[in-house]
Amino acid sequence: MIRARLYAPLSGGAVKCLACNHFCTITPGHPGLCGVRENRDGQLFSLVYDRVVAAGVDPIEKKPIFHFKPGSLSFSIAAPGCNFKCRFCQNADISQVCDRGADPFSGRLAGKAMTPEAIVAKAVELGCQSISYTYTEPTVFFELVLDTAMLAKEAGLANIFVTNGFMSPKLLQASAAVLDAANVDLKSFSNGFYTRYCNGRLEPVKQTLKAMVDLGLMVEVTTLVIPGLNDDPNELEQMASFIAGELGPSTPWHLSRFHPAYQLTQVGPTPVDTLERACDIALSAGLVHVYTGNVPGARENTCCQACGRTVVKRFGYTVENFLTQTNKCPGCGSPVFGIY
Ligand code: SF4
Repeated sequence: MIRARLYAPLSGGAVKCLACNHFCTITPGHPGLCGVRENRDGQLFSLVYDRVVAAGVDPIEKKPIFHFKPGSLSFSIAAPGCNFKCRFCQNADISQVCDRGADPFSGRLAGKAMTPEAIVAKAVELGCQSISYTYTEPTVFFELVLDTAMLAKEAGLANIFVTNGFMSPKLLQASAAVLDAANVDLKSFSNGFYTRYCNGRLEPVKQTLKAMVDLGLMVEVTTLVIPGLNDDPNELEQMASFIAGELGPSTPWHLSRFHPAYQLTQVGPTPVDTLERACDIALSAGLVHVYTGNVPGARENTCCQACGRTVVKRFGYTVENFLTQTNKCPGCGSPVFGIY
């Protein structure tokens, strides 16, 4: 357990956590909404600095990140907890620590100590080109993220956030110097969806996305398309227009297939036709790099936006990258969005 970054003292021993847009006011002896940042005697502590709950090598495509070093390996780590409570969470066993009955006060949170030095050494040893902070929400284990990311930079590794985008502007600023790329969930374009199904809000996520682009980060967006909840064509059109208009038409958008999970088991998997219609909507709105997720062999290739030639060919995590060391299309020489 170490003292948290990004909080402000309040009267009566309370603190305000400044890590995410919940800005929890936390009284002594209590955790914030995420369950893993706790007020002890008027100071905020992270309970998960030494609780790495997942650590392993993934293809970067699994994040999903398609336009940053495609075909490379990313050492992926997580600590328990999340600032959202998505009813459809695919990783609820490690993200929803409060719901699971873990007692945040007792230190019985799952995971094991793995120092930033050990994480970076492992990533280098296993031939990874980046470290991804993923599976849960990097915002809530920010202290471990930042210490690791700084060492990773020194070792020549890139840093990648896979995030719900609900981090505070302060946290994003504090990460900017060491962050290279991010995949941000845009779960819906309805604030009602965010409040009802995620315990979050839409506007801060939009602001984070815009701020990341302004900072020059490589940003990709993912939407899990859930039948009947966020697959309305008008809503998808609004999302596509926001991405194209505010983030740029080259911004990759991953439209992923939903599978029943956690507390949303009464909704069936997304029909592939729905994803195809969503892709058509995205392309009509002006986006050029639109992908389907969780449907191997569907829409996974990266194509040159000038001549249409396939420049990165994918089937699941099998990747053929024709852009190694360059971002120029081998066919027409046009630049392809991304870092290769
Ligand atoms: S990171 Fe956790 S404690 Fe901090 S504001 Fe967000 S939910 Fe609250």
